[in-house]
Amino acid sequence: MDRDSLTDLKIFPWDVNFDTGIDLIDEQHKKLVDILNELALHLANRSKPKALQDIFDQLSDYANYHFKCEEEIWNKHLQGDDWLTSHEATHDSFLKSVTELQNNAEGRPLEDVINDAVSFLTHWLAYHILDTDKRMAKVVLGIEQGLSMEQSKAGADEAMAGSMQVIINTILTMYSSLSDRTLTLMRERALRLEAEKALRYSEERWQFILQTDIEGIWEWDMEKDIANFSADDIGLLNISGKVPEHPVQNPKIHPDDIERVQQDYEDHVSGKTPFFSNKHRVLHSEGNWSWVLTRGKIISRDEHNKPLRMIGTHADITRRELATMIYDNTNEAIFITDSNNKIINANQAFTHITGYSLSDVIGRSPSLLSSSKHDEPFYQNMWESLLKEGCWNGEIWNKHANGTTYPAAISISVIRDHQGNIDHHFAVFSDITEKKQTEEMLFDQAYKDILTGLPNRRMCLQRLEQSMLTSKRSKLAFAVLYIDLDHFKEVNDSFGHTKGDQLLIEVASRIKSRIRDTDTLCRLGGDEFTVIINEIHEAQVVERVAQNIIDAIKKPFLLDTDKAYVSCSIGITLYPEDASDITTLLKNADQAMYMAKKTGRDGFRYFTPAMQHDLEYRQGIKNELHTALINNEFEVYYQPLVNFSTGTIEKAEALLRWFHPVRGAISPEEFIPIAEESGLIIEIGTWVYRQVFAQLASWQQAGLQNIRICVNNSPAQFRSDKRPTKLIKELLVEYQLPGEKLIVEITEGLLMHSEQHVHEQLLELRNMGIEVALDDFGTGYSSLSYLKQFDIDYIKIDQSFVQNLKRGSQDAALCEAMTAMAHKLDIMVVTEGVENEEQRDILSGMGCDFAQGFLYHHPMSAKEMTKVLISASASG
Ligand code: C2E
Ligand code: CA
Ligand code: CA
Repeated sequence: MDRDSLTDLKIFPWDVNFDTGIDLIDEQHKKLVDILNELALHLANRSKPKALQDIFDQLSDYANYHFKCEEEIWNKHLQGDDWLTSHEATHDSFLKSVTELQNNAEGRPLEDVINDAVSFLTHWLAYHILDTDKRMAKVVLGIEQGLSMEQSKAGADEAMAGSMQVIINTILTMYSSLSDRTLTLMRERALRLEAEKALRYSEERWQFILQTDIEGIWEWDMEKDIANFSADDIGLLNISGKVPEHPVQNPKIHPDDIERVQQDYEDHVSGKTPFFSNKHRVLHSEGNWSWVLTRGKIISRDEHNKPLRMIGTHADITRRELATMIYDNTNEAIFITDSNNKIINANQAFTHITGYSLSDVIGRSPSLLSSSKHDEPFYQNMWESLLKEGCWNGEIWNKHANGTTYPAAISISVIRDHQGNIDHHFAVFSDITEKKQTEEMLFDQAYKDILTGLPNRRMCLQRLEQSMLTSKRSKLAFAVLYIDLDHFKEVNDSFGHTKGDQLLIEVASRIKSRIRDTDTLCRLGGDEFTVIINEIHEAQVVERVAQNIIDAIKKPFLLDTDKAYVSCSIGITLYPEDASDITTLLKNADQAMYMAKKTGRDGFRYFTPAMQHDLEYRQGIKNELHTALINNEFEVYYQPLVNFSTGTIEKAEALLRWFHPVRGAISPEEFIPIAEESGLIIEIGTWVYRQVFAQLASWQQAGLQNIRICVNNSPAQFRSDKRPTKLIKELLVEYQLPGEKLIVEITEGLLMHSEQHVHEQLLELRNMGIEVALDDFGTGYSSLSYLKQFDIDYIKIDQSFVQNLKRGSQDAALCEAMTAMAHKLDIMVVTEGVENEEQRDILSGMGCDFAQGFLYHHPMSAKEMTKVLISASASG
């Protein structure tokens, strides 16, 4: 312990009461007080005997010198006075006592010697300095001021009488206890300084261990139960279990923790533990519970081993506790590495995610987690950013202990020491397999076609946008090929959806193999695909690709055991030649494809200005269809069906007509597909049924009861929520008509999809007594088994078979076969498009049941039809 820290510890401070008024004497007295203080210091320090010898020497020197000068002063004024005589005697006894003390010191405990010396000197100080010297000084001063000896003595006595007596008594009591209380205090002070220094040292060590958790040092006088705190933010010395006196706070230990605190304290008091250490909750002044770590050690005990003093530290470790809690309980894996990047700790979640236990990884590099999915630059970049920015966040592929890989979202931080050197690395990560899967799934759902995995329409538009930007930069054109399969519907119809899907997947792969990697193949939906051919250097490339695709698609598709044939029609459009925006570009490609289909399929067509007009026309029709219904521009025409054998009109087909105010009559072949596209067919279909029923009712009233009407239905009608059967049922009731009055015409496509509710509706029709005719028979993948299954009443052989009908022709053979089979199934046959007698004779000869065609009647208005019916009934 360094001396300096104690030199200011003066047991005998120089007091103004010591002043005699005579400077020379006061200086001498101050010297004596210094010696006294030095002696006390030796006591506190338990100095060596050599140091004590010096003190005695000093004392003798002082006495000899002091007494000489003092006596000179006194003699000057008080020569021969009895006060002076007795005073001089005390000087002699002082010197004698010092010699005695010095002689007695030999062989005695040093402490006792010093105690004796201090005791003697304090008495001397009190009697000699504070009393006789002070009194004599007052006399001398009085004489010097011109008072008589008698007057001066009386004044001195008076001045020394009252308060001075008290001071003397006080000093005496104080000095007599020098050896016990004062010295104990001094010693404790010395110890405390030592302890504080030791604590500062250990505090530094603890700080190293606990980082910045140490918040205070305390010492506890256990006898008096007084605690001192070096700093107090948390205020918590409470190891005895009771609340100590405290200047700032009155903390309370959590009831659940008190027992443990007391036990730990008692264990330390009884010597069971070298340190007291306890973690407990304390009610903070702000009302919350803080976690506190208190550590301490008893540093002094009395001769009965009773603890007297304890020192220690306390720290608010709430944050650390919370951190530990999080560390242990989080779902995120955490590991910490040292400056050499060797793992020093990892939490439970780490084990859970990686499959490695703590002991597996301690001392190892985190690289044991890495998969081989990242290249060197990836890790280089990671370390660079770690060193530069102190942290790195990203996604990384890790390898599980079992060898599987998983994606992880990881955040790594560098922890540096005060000098800025890397101390630790700290990494937090989680397994994001599920998140990644969901993300991918969402992306795929949004941008990919589920069946083929190709970009969907939305992504196609994005790619087109990109191609446009690239083209603007490169000044090179790009092409859009709009590909639509021909007869795909038939594949679906005859082989089922699963095989239809199989075919589409195969189509995708065939197209893919005919384009470059830089080109994009998308599936827009159904059997529609697009190919974007980027950066066209020579125009022929586009044609070549288109033809390649057409040839590839034409080859047979093997669908398990079935073999299917399709072809495709391709529309081609060029950017920037044909359009300046992608929507128009796609629309033009679509239109060119439409034209390719219209002109024979199985080929490609470039977009042309003529198509532009056609496109605009179609668009115009689409818009005008909406107003056509409201403006009553539609009319239902009727075309009779004639019985081959009797020649009578038994039925008529309702055929829709649109008389456009500007464009004139528009064929249903033209507007029905557009109405289907826009969904307006449902409303139009309903309107037709209403017209037909109203007409039937009016013919009924007119006595023309024998006519039955065939009504065309678009598949869309049967598939919509507004079931035609429901409507028909209502109309039958409304017009009081029996079901036999109606024949519903459907196409094969509707049956092939064979949804449950279609089936139900056909049954409903049967139950209402309504017959069903299968229109355009022979054009699709006609299957007789369907006819049986769905209880069809008529087939209508398509007019394409009738058109070029000659005896012995292939068409004649087909018609004959279809008729024969239908009849075997109890299904009647209607032939459409009978225009001449030859056709009539051939078909009639085959046994066909009904004929429809210009040879008999053209479709006509209801008014004309009424006339025909009346004349027929008159003649029949
Ligand atoms: P579809 O059901 O095959 O109707 C027969 C078509 O053949 C009618 O054409 C008719 O005028 C025509 N036709 C009749 N006899 C002959 C003939 O001897 N020679 C020739 N070359 N043609 C003949 P239309 O009226 O132009 O109807 C075309 C198609 O429009 C119909 O074909 C039908 O699929 C559809 N359609 C007509 N009305 C409706 C309707 O109300 N609803 C629905 N969904 N479709 C309808
Ligand atoms: Ca028809
Ligand atoms: Ca037809």
